[in-house]
Amino acid sequence: MSLTETCKEIAASLSSAHQSSSSQIAKCSFEPGTFLDVGIAVICFCTLQILGKTRTPFAAKGGGHASNPGLVWDDVYAALEPYGVNVVGIRVPGVGVACFTLGGGYSWLSNQYGLTIDTMQSFELAIPNDTVLNVTAASDPEFEAHQNYGIVTRFTLKTFSQSQVWGGIIIYSAKVSDLVSQVAANFAANITDPKAQIITTYNHILGVVSGVLNFIFYDGPSPPGGIFGHPSPLIAYDVEPFIPSIYSHSTTPSAYPPSRDRGLLLLDIYFAWTSLTSDGIMQQAVRDSAAHLRQLAITEGQDIADAASYGNYAIFDTLLSNIYGENVPRLQAIKTAVDPTNVMGLAGGFKF
Ligand SMILES: Cc1cc2nc3c(=O)[nH]c(=O)nc-3n(C[C@H](O)[C@H](O)[C@H](O)COP(=O)(O)OP(=O)(O)OC[C@H]3O[C@@H](n4cnc5c(N)ncnc54)[C@H](O)[C@@H]3O)c2cc1C
Repeated sequence: MSLTETCKEIAASLSSAHQSSSSQIAKCSFEPGTFLDVGIAVICFCTLQILGKTRTPFAAKGGGHASNPGLVWDDVYAALEPYGVNVVGIRVPGVGVACFTLGGGYSWLSNQYGLTIDTMQSFELAIPNDTVLNVTAASDPEFEAHQNYGIVTRFTLKTFSQSQVWGGIIIYSAKVSDLVSQVAANFAANITDPKAQIITTYNHILGVVSGVLNFIFYDGPSPPGGIFGHPSPLIAYDVEPFIPSIYSHSTTPSAYPPSRDRGLLLLDIYFAWTSLTSDGIMQQAVRDSAAHLRQLAITEGQDIADAASYGNYAIFDTLLSNIYGENVPRLQAIKTAVDPTNVMGLAGGFKF
């Protein structure tokens, strides 16, 4: 019997399925035309009978990763969310339920509850002889679910209560791939919290690591500190050129800048870090970096030895004279006059 005749026979035998042609590999494909579970099982069973009789190669499509997928995990999660429960399912969107489950199923929740297949309570299986089975541990303790036995048409999975989770993707430049590897190795060697998981992905282009991704997950609103390593500090230098006439728009006295004779471009040194214990070392690094750059510019011949610091960018212990220059005594006198009891000294910021 030709493939076309086989397709026709399947179509004729199934009143509740419709036939569609694949533009790629399959000679024909069928999708159940009803959502009745028993109907789907019967369709699978009838189809298997014809496929077996005609010895026609075929594939079932669970979710499938091509276009036009069937039930994917996204559908399952969306349906369960209103009940505050979850199942042990896929880690990324768009993947099918059926074969993921039958193959095992590594999930963000697997450290806590096992593989997806470990959480299966029962499944409905259309097998090629002439039967639709409802398999449970009690009914068939020896019977494992596997795509080699037939077509699974229904899964019953155990649910677990689920509240907020924490996670996301961190993208690193290839330059720090060694550091990211260290974080991954440390995680694998030392982290035993079953709620935490990490996937480190090395992307290559033409044989060279082009970037590293860390998918990180914690089954809770936030992870315990340091479990995913300490994020590396962000270090930025912002160069902000203004035209030299910038300070020519006002003739009234102003505290900053202490001299309006020339307009220098701003350089903002921006270091960001997360660990409180790093405060001292990072703040000193900012000071050292500023001093180094100033000296470098002077060595190159720039006349900036007395360039004022901008108070809104300056580190907290910058001397007032570095910001306001010769204006400091005048500012202090004004301060004494308007705030003799130093109420404003109770607030933050630079103090006269
Ligand atoms: C982006 C992506 C991320 C992934 N992430 C993970 C992960 O985090 N953890 C993990 O464990 N795996 C992961 N996988 C692998 C995944 O488990 C497999 O790709 C799995 O095959 C997907 O299931 P499916 O239903 O979409 O398969 P399909 O492509 O639909 O089917 C694959 C095979 O299973 C058979 N089959 C399909 N449905 C049935 C059925 N109802 N009864 C019997 N046989 C059937 C088909 O005949 C076919 O041979 C990922 C895959 C992708 C593409």
